[in-house]
Amino acid sequence: MSEAAKGKVVVLSGPSGVGKTTVLRRLLAECPLPLRVSVSATTRPPRPGEVHGRDYHFLSTEEFHRRRERGEFLECYEVYGSGWWYGTLKAEVVAGLESGAWVVLGIDVHGAFAVVNHYPDAITIFLRPNSLEELERRLRGRGTEDEESIQRRLQQARNELALADWYRHQVINDDLDRAVGEICQILVRIGETRHV
Ligand code: 5GP
Repeated sequence: MSEAAKGKVVVLSGPSGVGKTTVLRRLLAECPLPLRVSVSATTRPPRPGEVHGRDYHFLSTEEFHRRRERGEFLECYEVYGSGWWYGTLKAEVVAGLESGAWVVLGIDVHGAFAVVNHYPDAITIFLRPNSLEELERRLRGRGTEDEESIQRRLQQARNELALADWYRHQVINDDLDRAVGEICQILVRIGETRHV
């Protein structure tokens, strides 16, 4: 049996600040499926409260590229032209799939394209903000980004929103409970209709 036949790959994308992390946490707690989040690697320094190994594998630039050269990434990109690299570790995904889990990847659109190229049956979901104004308000409210970073993330959001139609499903995060419920319903329905 192939690794993909055992579990499923779920890609959740959406602009920075749309609430992907919160939605993912809630899904893990509430959705009655064997969901498991793939913890990405990044060269970005941790934000206050972020934990190594839970939120990201925080790697030095040298370590990141060493692993990249060893072929340890399913996909990796320099996101936002910020100089920070982000990548999905093959080991995170394969271990999850082999255990029969639904492995959820919270990654950007470039990463999503690469993952679907590798796992054509991946379930792709794009989380949309209510509006760009709302997204800007959330990014500022987070208080973790400087003005340059906010502007870069907003421009990136416009670029990502333009590609949202490529995703199989789009969910608006106008209300956290509703958005989590909708994503969970999408996944449960797929679980019921697809032969596992
Ligand atoms: P943040 O710095 O806000 O945690 O993440 C910035 C962006 O990087 C997010 O939009 C997220 O989707 C993307 N990202 C996080 N992990 C990965 C990854 O492993 N691969 C790719 N391609 N993008 C990622």
